[in-house]
Amino acid sequence: LPRRVHDVYAPFVASTPDAPAFVEAGRVWTYRQFSDAVDAAARDLAALAIRPGDRVMVASENSVALGAMLFAAGTLDAWAIPVNPRLSGRELDQIAAHSGARRVMFNAALSKEAADHATRVGAQLRAIGPFGGIGVGPLNDATQAEPVTDGNERQVAALMYTSGTTGAPKGVMLSHRNLLVAARVSGLMRRTAPGDRIYGVLPMSHIVGYSILLISTLMHGAALHVVAKADPAALARAIAEEGITTIFGVPATYQRLLEYKSVNGIARLKRGSLRLMGVAGAPLDLSLKQRIEDEFGIPLLNAYGITECSPGLTGVREADPVSDESVGPLLPGIAYRIVDRDGKAVGTGEVGELHVRGANVMLGYYRAPDQTAAGIDRDGWFNTGDLARVNARGHFYIVGRTKEMIIRSGFNVYPAEIEAVLNSHRDVVQSAVVGRPVEGNEEIVAFVQLLLGASIDAEALAAYAANQLTPYKRPSELVVLDTLPAASTGKILKHKLRDLAIASAR
Ligand code: ATP
Repeated sequence: LPRRVHDVYAPFVASTPDAPAFVEAGRVWTYRQFSDAVDAAARDLAALAIRPGDRVMVASENSVALGAMLFAAGTLDAWAIPVNPRLSGRELDQIAAHSGARRVMFNAALSKEAADHATRVGAQLRAIGPFGGIGVGPLNDATQAEPVTDGNERQVAALMYTSGTTGAPKGVMLSHRNLLVAARVSGLMRRTAPGDRIYGVLPMSHIVGYSILLISTLMHGAALHVVAKADPAALARAIAEEGITTIFGVPATYQRLLEYKSVNGIARLKRGSLRLMGVAGAPLDLSLKQRIEDEFGIPLLNAYGITECSPGLTGVREADPVSDESVGPLLPGIAYRIVDRDGKAVGTGEVGELHVRGANVMLGYYRAPDQTAAGIDRDGWFNTGDLARVNARGHFYIVGRTKEMIIRSGFNVYPAEIEAVLNSHRDVVQSAVVGRPVEGNEEIVAFVQLLLGASIDAEALAAYAANQLTPYKRPSELVVLDTLPAASTGKILKHKLRDLAIASAR
C-alpha cells in the first residue's frame, strides 16, 4: 500500500502522466495536471495558516477542486472534512464547531448553496491552486492542532460526518490506512484499471464518493467523471456517448434512470461501454434490480458498507452474481459474527446483529469516547447496528437496522420487508416504514411516494399490502407524501418520518 492517501496517484503521474484522471464538464484533467493542482492547493492552504494536525472543512458539490483540496489537506498532515454544501447553516456550523475546523472552505464557484454559506460566514473569495472562486472562511485561531503520527495507521486522513439518517451527525475518524485498504479492495474486486471511466455522481462528502470514487479510482489509474448534480438524462448520455465503463449508485440513481426512460418514451437505453453497475447504501428492491439488469444486460452488483468501515464490508462479485437482494460475501480481510441480544452467536440463516473486524474499521468517533467505546469493543469488534443473516453460501442479507426494528405485539418486524411489498406496486416510487410507540406496543406507519398521476390511493395501497403481509406486519397507518425527506445521498431520513408519525397520531 502507498504510505498516505494522497500518495495513491503518484505511480501514474510517473508512468502515464498524460492519462486522464478526471473529466469535468467536458474538460480532461491528466494525472500530471491533477498532481500539480494538488501541490499548488497545498501551498495555498499552508499560506492560509493550515498546520499539521488541523482540520480543514470543505463544503462543495463534487468537483476536481474538491478532490484536490481534500488531498492537499493530507499532504500538510491536516485532516480533511468534506461536507455537503446543501446542509443548512445550522448543521454546517455544528460540524465546524464540533470538529474545531481551522478553516471552512466553500466551492462558491460551483453552487449557490456554497456561495450563500460563504457570504454568511464572511468568507473571502480566492484562488486555491488553479481553482478560482473558492470561499475561504475566517481563521479559527483558538483551535488546537491534533498530534501527527508517522505511517498510516494512527494518522487521521478524513473526518466523515455521517449523513444522520438516524439522528445527530457523528464525526467518523478514518485513518490513511483505513481508506487505503478499503480503496484497494474495492479496486481489486471491481477490476478497476487504466482505461476505466467511472461515473462519479455520489458525493465526495459521503464515504462512497470519497473512498470508492475519488481515492480508489486514482489508486488504480482510472478516470473519474465528476458529476456535481445527479441528473438521469446526463447519466444516460454519459453512458451512451462518453465511454463510461462503471457506475456506482444508490438505488435512487437507477430508479431515476428508469423513470427518465419511461417518462421520455425511450425504447431502450444505450449501454455503450458499460461493464459494471454497483449499488450500495440502502436496501435494494428486487424489482428495480431486475428492471435495470434487463435494460443493460449486466448484473447490478449490490454492496454493503458503512461510513465507520471506510465503507466496504460485503459485495456481490461479478463472477458469482445473485438473483436476489443479497449484498454478497464478505470482502477479503474482514471477520464477522452475527449475535443475538445477549451477544451469543446465532445459527446459520438466523437474523442477528452484525459485528465486524478488519483494517478498514475506523479509529473512533471524534471527541466522543463514550460513543466509540459503545461502537467498538476491546477486541476491535465494531457493531454495525445492522441486522443481518448469512446463508450457507456465505452470502449476506441486510434485514434492517437494530434501531429501526419494530416490535409489534412481541413480534420482530423489519421495515425493509414491508417497504419491499409497497415498492412492488407499480404506482409506488418509494416508501419508508417506521415504528410509532403506543402504550405498551409499537405501531407500523408507512410513508409512500406515488408516481406522478398515479390513480391508486392510500386505502387501496394498504389493501394491496395487507394481501401480502401477515396481520402483525400490516401498517397501522399509510400516509402518502409528495416526496420523502432524503439526505444528499438520496437516503430517506427516517428520524424525520418517525417524528411525523408521532405527530400525526396526536
Ligand atoms: P447514520 O449512521 O447517521 O444513520 P447513514 O445511514 O447515512 O447515517 P451510512 O454509513 O451512510 O450512514 O450508511 C450505512 C448504512 O446504510 C448501513 O448501516 C446499512 O443500514 C445501510 N446500507 C448500506 N448499504 C446497504 C445495502 N447494500 N443494503 C441495505 N442496506 C445498506
